[in-house]
Amino acid sequence: MPRPELLHRLAAGTAQRAHAGLLRRLRVIEHGDGPWLETGGRRLLGFCGNDYLGLAQHPQVIAALKRVADDAGVGSTSAHLICGHRREHAMLEEALAEWTGRERALLFSTGYMANLGTLQALLQRGDVCVQDRLDHACLIDGAQLAGAELKRYPHADVTAAARQLQSRPDTAALLATDGVFSMDGDVAPLRELAALCTREGATLMVDDAHGLGVLGDDGSGSLRATGLGQREVPVLMATLGKALGCSGAFVAGSATLVDGLLQFARPYIYTTAMPPALAAAALAAVELAQRESWRRKKLAALIARFRAGAGELGLPLMPSPSAIQPLQLGDAQAALDTALALERRGFLVGAIRPPTVPQGQARLRITLSAAHEEADVDRLLGALDDLRRAPRVG
Ligand code: PMP
Repeated sequence: MPRPELLHRLAAGTAQRAHAGLLRRLRVIEHGDGPWLETGGRRLLGFCGNDYLGLAQHPQVIAALKRVADDAGVGSTSAHLICGHRREHAMLEEALAEWTGRERALLFSTGYMANLGTLQALLQRGDVCVQDRLDHACLIDGAQLAGAELKRYPHADVTAAARQLQSRPDTAALLATDGVFSMDGDVAPLRELAALCTREGATLMVDDAHGLGVLGDDGSGSLRATGLGQREVPVLMATLGKALGCSGAFVAGSATLVDGLLQFARPYIYTTAMPPALAAAALAAVELAQRESWRRKKLAALIARFRAGAGELGLPLMPSPSAIQPLQLGDAQAALDTALALERRGFLVGAIRPPTVPQGQARLRITLSAAHEEADVDRLLGALDDLRRAPRVG
């Protein structure tokens, strides 16, 4: 047998995806103005971004970025542990720790790297990592990178999670879950999971990428909203690229956690620190997210308006209290066709298909933002109503 040629194999995989109608395609956005996106010479109203509080283009966030870039340039020039860790990073870490009620926080360049690094630093070969089946890809990949035994329980099934932990009573164990699930928008049963981890002596990690800024009276996320602190949830991860409108991520917890990550999390140690100007922008966004609670209130009102309207139309809503309001259509082609039909009517909505979601659960991932207006939501509902009699919607 000749040795398989890697690029041929890759091309065959791509061709197979195309054949199954599941090819992913890039789209160039020529300009963004809040939720309005220009692409292919058309201006579309987007319900697909994660700028939940409408901070990505906030003048104070942009001004903070410009100020530091003017003063210190763009690149951090190095990894954090050499000379890349600037005052702006330290200030942002302090603000994030305080906001989330944790002792310390550590910045990572992306959320993907934060999860890879945290799981790889905490877990060793032979440990067990129990995860919700719908956890984000980077939590799954982190457990695999660490060489831990990965067990995935059916979505939000605390009894199944308990069985998985109890099957390895003598093994070091991490239970990791999304706080708000990225493709479903629902919140994990956090109190029950915390009680389970306490009972079983397992460590609980919550990825609150989609909860931070949106949930909790102070916007500090799904844990504050459920009254869980550092003791119950020792490892909290969240990103800066969603409600905060910037880019990057952090892990927050005890000094022991942060000191350990600094020593052992390879995706932290061996990479260039995020640009300090970006850290300054994120700090401005954190201050706005805390101070301008009207953004959260407006978002909550838009979510309620969308859910009420979609409910009246009999659309297949999912049980989500968050800014992520998917409409489950089942068939991948149905999701694509509906997204295309919406695009013809002037809307950009993501069609999410396997393998991002399980087979038969393709959906439109509609996301709302404080940058939307009530009239925007009504227009989207109007377009969905138009499409309702098409056989594949509702
Ligand atoms: N966790 C969750 C739940 C996410 O949805 C995402 C990204 N969409 C990430 C982590 C990764 O974050 P980042 O985009 O900063 O890499």
